[in-house]
Amino acid sequence: TEHEKPRPKKQRRSGELRENDAAAAERRRRIDAERRQLPAWAARDKLLALLQQHRTLVLVGETGSGKTTQIPQFLLAAKFGKSSGSKGAVPDDGADEGAAAGPGPGSARTAATAPAAGGHRAYGGGQCIAVTQPRRVAAMTVARRVAEEMGTKIGQQVGYAIRFEDVTSPATRIKYMTDGLLLREALVDPLLSRYRVVVIDEAHERTVHTDVLLGLIKGVQARRGDDFRLVVMSATLDAARFVDYFPGAVAALVRGRQFPVQVLYTARPEDNYLDAAINATLQVHGEEPEGDVLVFLTGQDEIDSAERLLKDRLSSLPAAARMAGVVGAAAELPGEEAAEGGGGGVEGGGGGPAAAEAAAAVGGRPRELLVLPIYAALPPEQQMKVFEPAPPGTRKAILATNIAETSITIPGVRYVIDTGHVKARDYNAKLGLESLAVVPVSQAQARQRSGRAGREGPGKAYRLYTEADFSQLAATTPPEITRCNLASVVLQLKAMGIDDVLGFDFMDPPPRTAILRSLELLFALGALDNSGKLTEEVGLRLSRLPVDPMFGRVLLAAAELGCGVEALAVVAMVSADNVFHTPRQKEAEWRAARLKFLSREGDHLTLLNVFRGFMELPKESHKARTGWCSDNFINIRALRKAEDIYTQLVRFMGHPCPPGLGLPLATCGDETTPLRRALTAGLFPHAARLQPDGSYRVIATGRQVFLHPSSVLLERKPDCLVFNELMHTTRTYARDATAIEARWLPELAPAFFAAKASAATAGVSAAGAAR
Ligand code: ADP
Ligand code: MG
Repeated sequence: TEHEKPRPKKQRRSGELRENDAAAAERRRRIDAERRQLPAWAARDKLLALLQQHRTLVLVGETGSGKTTQIPQFLLAAKFGKSSGSKGAVPDDGADEGAAAGPGPGSARTAATAPAAGGHRAYGGGQCIAVTQPRRVAAMTVARRVAEEMGTKIGQQVGYAIRFEDVTSPATRIKYMTDGLLLREALVDPLLSRYRVVVIDEAHERTVHTDVLLGLIKGVQARRGDDFRLVVMSATLDAARFVDYFPGAVAALVRGRQFPVQVLYTARPEDNYLDAAINATLQVHGEEPEGDVLVFLTGQDEIDSAERLLKDRLSSLPAAARMAGVVGAAAELPGEEAAEGGGGGVEGGGGGPAAAEAAAAVGGRPRELLVLPIYAALPPEQQMKVFEPAPPGTRKAILATNIAETSITIPGVRYVIDTGHVKARDYNAKLGLESLAVVPVSQAQARQRSGRAGREGPGKAYRLYTEADFSQLAATTPPEITRCNLASVVLQLKAMGIDDVLGFDFMDPPPRTAILRSLELLFALGALDNSGKLTEEVGLRLSRLPVDPMFGRVLLAAAELGCGVEALAVVAMVSADNVFHTPRQKEAEWRAARLKFLSREGDHLTLLNVFRGFMELPKESHKARTGWCSDNFINIRALRKAEDIYTQLVRFMGHPCPPGLGLPLATCGDETTPLRRALTAGLFPHAARLQPDGSYRVIATGRQVFLHPSSVLLERKPDCLVFNELMHTTRTYARDATAIEARWLPELAPAFFAAKASAATAGVSAAGAAR
């Protein structure tokens, strides 16, 4: 085929390149002009002066005022991020590799593993600027944007690092990263000595990692003195909390611009906010003048189905309707369709003939609607698409999670559709169970969301709930640290030598019971000894593994039980997002395809079969891989990600030098018992027994749960199982489960189950672990 002929391609390329160069230069000029308009620019000199005099700057600024993209560049230009030593600005690779610890897995460009000890001089001799983000998508997209603004390639001067992905180099001076990853780096570099400035961005989000980082950095400041600067950035006016927390901190405000936003509520509560969101989107598209639509949904699954539904609805409309305005035409469709076209009763919207007339009167209304999702698992090119201006005559509908609330700003948005929901962590300290649940947003979140419509001009926000419901919402969201499982955080604090976790200087201390629960769990996993000290064998290793402690324990047990290869594959697969495609229209087909991989023993083993199938394909053959994935309704991106994570974890587990664990990796072949036992050894707090009514009861807590509808175990429920996680919808579901033998429990988790065996009933907390 044509594109396989190398020559013409090359010629075309160089031609294109020249053209692209000119286009790129023009684009940069435009970007540069845009940048200078941002409110952050007006404050630039003042901010830099403040940071010369104060070690902590708390910066509050409206979303979109240029905090995230501009401040790090100011810092760099003001030499806060430049090498001050006699060494060149960019130390060559060799200088770092000469460190005593040797290359180690850490220097293998593995974000998961944090730098090898001794790597302090990496990143410009401790002169790098770290900018943390609570979310991966923000770290990735913002870094790309800033690289473009600076006219460099991503991964050079500007890079990003998220778990299992490191796009930085020794030349990197501005490093966007997730807050969780900086926390991991602190494990091996407790003084954060590779950074001259740390910027904790989106601090108002108060994620658990941000909160722990704030506490750690407070200690770092005391030890590093004038050599270190902290910038805390927040989109809400809560500067006082941060200023009070950091001694000698100073606050500054960047004034944003905000145009009025008309807020519209529904007259009645919506039964199904997803349908309502789709109707509202079509309504806006059909009735409103140009401007993009930003729709807030709760997660990838929901975004995927919304995208599909929207596209279906758009293509099922008669061509004339697509051109002339959806609502006007939809009103002519029979029955239900027409009613739905009305937009789910959003006040001030309204469908029907009146709207059709109004619609016809509007001249500049875009004809085509481009549906653009954004979430972490999308490939970067697709993520960046949401930022591209809609071509003339079109309108973008961006389907986002709360990532678009404050973390990223998408130009062109005039209409916001707020479903009023968000996916959030929830932790029941009494039961020691964490779950992800879709919950109502807070009033503060709803306001942030609406505000996104008024950045470039007056806008409209459609809240898909009633005004009465709004008034019932919580004013703000409590910090995550007060409602999540703290096991991994407590483990990391312990590994940093902070033994008195209860006495740690948290900005908002988590509930005591939550800390005690996590100590119990870590004790049960063998990570802590009787006196609460980190154990070498298990605790130290778990703290280094870039996975949840329970999964970390699975991996350690697997190494002992001779199934390390399989366990790593399973952990890699559960770490990758959405492996299976489940298109509604092709249910029979994907169910049939799934059978090939099905293991009667559980979801983990089924995932393992998929992974093995994928790994058997010739690695070089993109065609073979894509073909196989599409035949089997498998998401190739997820599998590639899993493969990547697997490779990193193998290197990490097997590598003899710290932070590598130097553990043997054997395979158990077709035997499943070793793997199921390894899963038991780590997931035992999530062991559950079958009840006469077909539900399960979690042994550790006595809680009733149901097997998730996606589980392969549903057809033949085992007496006993372990599962990955709980999900709340109308019921509590256990997801990703594997059948185990109940008698393995006291054997593999004696500290947890020995006491229980005598108590014999569920619901008794692990007495042995309570200390
Ligand atoms: P803040 O952090 O204060 O919320 P940002 O620095 O994220 O503000 O955004 C500043 C400006 O940069 C906004 O006007 C936004 O539209 C623009 N911007 C940010 N990222 C991109 C991108 N990837 N493409 C185009 N514009 C962007
Ligand atoms: Mg920002």
